[in-house]
Amino acid sequence: MNNPVPQIGFVSLGCPKALVDSERILSKLRAEGYGLSASYNDADLVVVNTCGFIDTAVEESLDAIGEAMNENGRVIVTGCLGKDSGKIRAAYPDVLAVTGAHAYEQVINAIHEHVPPPHEPHLSLVPPQGIKLTPRHYAYLKISEGCNHRCSFCIIPSMRGDLVSRPIAEVLWEAEKLVAAGVRELLVISQDTSAYGTDLKYREDNWQGRKVRTHILQLAEELGELDVWIRMHYVYPYPHVDALIPLMAERKILPYLDIPLQHGSPKILKAMRRPAATEKVLERIRQWREICPDITIRSTFIVGFPGETEEDFNELLAFIREARLNRVGCFTYSPVEGAKANAMSNPVPEEVKQERFERFMEVQQRISQSLLREKLGQRMTVLVDGTEDGKTIARSAADAPEIDGVVIIEDQELPEGEFVEIEIIDYGDYDLWGKVVPSSSP
Ligand code: SF4
Repeated sequence: MNNPVPQIGFVSLGCPKALVDSERILSKLRAEGYGLSASYNDADLVVVNTCGFIDTAVEESLDAIGEAMNENGRVIVTGCLGKDSGKIRAAYPDVLAVTGAHAYEQVINAIHEHVPPPHEPHLSLVPPQGIKLTPRHYAYLKISEGCNHRCSFCIIPSMRGDLVSRPIAEVLWEAEKLVAAGVRELLVISQDTSAYGTDLKYREDNWQGRKVRTHILQLAEELGELDVWIRMHYVYPYPHVDALIPLMAERKILPYLDIPLQHGSPKILKAMRRPAATEKVLERIRQWREICPDITIRSTFIVGFPGETEEDFNELLAFIREARLNRVGCFTYSPVEGAKANAMSNPVPEEVKQERFERFMEVQQRISQSLLREKLGQRMTVLVDGTEDGKTIARSAADAPEIDGVVIIEDQELPEGEFVEIEIIDYGDYDLWGKVVPSSSP
């Protein structure tokens, strides 16, 4: 290709954290004057940001590299799978460069080497909030990288390293820019949100003439002043998390807590080497609901972890029946290359894993339905994500984008990114139906 403005194609795979990496690279490229191409044909080079978390993600990443090689032929690979450059080079020896996750400078340098930047970068082309891959009205706010834990089923620390927090002033500056650019909801993400700032010893920064600590509580308080929805993800139940709940009750931040619990049996949690595994989770949840009765608690669980007996699994079922969590994801255990759990004895046969998964989902579906039924007749604010076949798809405080349910408003197309007051008129297994409260119709 000989484009007047060099064009870079970009394929972004993986989790929200990888998405944030992609956004950073794209913002930098735009700042340097590169164009972004949506087609392989028009691109001078294609960057593939990969995921290597589980084996299916590895396959998906290798397929994406293969497609980019076939369609364009000039490919730079980055992201989690980049750590394993041998595997990539064995499959595609002609890729131009391979870098690991968060290697922004290396990716940019590799692009410079193969497609030099244009002479005069049009800095004004870069919107102040950078380039977002999410819809304009919500954005992910990454507060740290890496993780100090060593869960036996996870290879993220070996790929991404120990926890490195972003200083709080930098995070708040980014949040302000996003809100100024029209973002209505910020989703706080990291590998371990509750541990934010521990590596910096909760260092104090100057922020708008005040001292603020690099700590999850101060971060939540400051973000709460921005007058948009603030949603917390990947929060482990360390004791100091209790202090976030009153902020939720006061609506400073959304009454929504995403806590990956993974199991309900202390024996399995120990084998998983989970952080905060011994905190009295059921008791804590009860107290949180006392302080903030409409809190939505989301979690994920793994069934069929090596050594999980029928008794352990029943303990998990008893746990979810008692906890009555609002939103729950479940996965059957699948070994990840390089994870310690692979060497554990007593792997659970595939058909048992599947059968436990189905039993788990059946129990949770009933819980979810009954919790949604309780919302009938309630009034609530929803944020419009878009329209589809004449209806509006929105989300309430209880619904994170992509992973939770939605609120459907039939026969009406409302503007994306608007907050609307509705009344709940029907419910399904995971979704709700609402109608606009007349006085709040836009
Ligand atoms: S807390 Fe555990 S599962 Fe999460 S990133 Fe760290 S090691 Fe992996």
